[in-house]
Amino acid sequence: MKPLDEARILLHTATLLDASDVMVAVFDPDDRLRYANKAFREAWFIGEKEEPLWAELMRRNYLARRGTVLATSDFDAWLLSTLSRRGKTGRRAFETDLHDGRWLWMTETTEASGWMLCVASDITSIRSDERSLRQDRDQALKAALTDELTGVASRRFVMTKLQELLFQNNDNGKTVGCLCVLDIDNFKYINDRFGHVVGDAILKDFAVTIHRMIRKTDVLGRVGGEEFLLLLPGAAPADAEALLEKMLVAIRHSSPLSDQVSFRYTFSAGIACGNAGEDPADAYRRADLALYAAKMRGRDQIALDPTIRSMTGSP
Ligand code: GH3
Ligand code: MG
Ligand code: MG
Repeated sequence: MKPLDEARILLHTATLLDASDVMVAVFDPDDRLRYANKAFREAWFIGEKEEPLWAELMRRNYLARRGTVLATSDFDAWLLSTLSRRGKTGRRAFETDLHDGRWLWMTETTEASGWMLCVASDITSIRSDERSLRQDRDQALKAALTDELTGVASRRFVMTKLQELLFQNNDNGKTVGCLCVLDIDNFKYINDRFGHVVGDAILKDFAVTIHRMIRKTDVLGRVGGEEFLLLLPGAAPADAEALLEKMLVAIRHSSPLSDQVSFRYTFSAGIACGNAGEDPADAYRRADLALYAAKMRGRDQIALDPTIRSMTGSP
């Protein structure tokens, strides 16, 4: 196609999108709005030249009681739970309602790079029967995909994403990214010494601190007690190692107890590579064995699955 044709098509596309009722937006890997048509900007109160972060946009609309209706009295908890599932590679579709009374059917399509297309259509006049039933069902589904205590993804969600990561292409054996098992050190002692309420507060602090450090396409899920699974699609072992080292420092410096400011805690982690087509349980087992090695070496550190070293030829 000639460059002139391409430019003309793009111009018509932009003009038509602005004339359409369908709300269209594109977010970059940092979740900043990079394109929105007129209908999208009107529905979510965005100025013509504005490029807000999605989280900022939701927060300001929540405070002004406009845009999306959020059934929560705790915006930050809602945000963490939503971010733990938003922008992961693939597609998502759901119904949502606006403060102006409109019902929307919204789809989100995310590239492996983290760029996301968001399309919303007004369905106020259709399928209005059983709407509350569908909303209850969506609410229950969302609850099953979120860990109740920490607000990050649930075991079910992160395990599904691990499965998808390993089976996303047919390139069997190819590395698809890293998976890391993170486990808080001496957590039984913390519970015994300070009580379960403090234990729970530390779990929340851990989840929030780690979640703040990951990319949009990464997934953090709580898989059990004080054990978390972190998926880093497309990451090389060295990237995973560097990120986990930063996390070790962040947790070492975290001071989660306001009445005991000198309290500190640590975690250990095992890193493994995911190979396309392999059984998720095998990949998990390698990361878990590496975690065990990190614990044995004295905790507050990370260990790589030894088969990574032999693959990359490193010492
Ligand atoms: P290590 O450094 O080897 O990981 O030792 P650890 O004490 O952290 O590991 P262990 O698996 O022995 O103990 C985990 C403890 O986590 C035991 C259990 O009481 C506690 N636990 C599990 N789930 C929860 C929870 O939801 N809240 C709280 N407060 N404690 C929990
Ligand atoms: Mg532990
Ligand atoms: Mg454990």
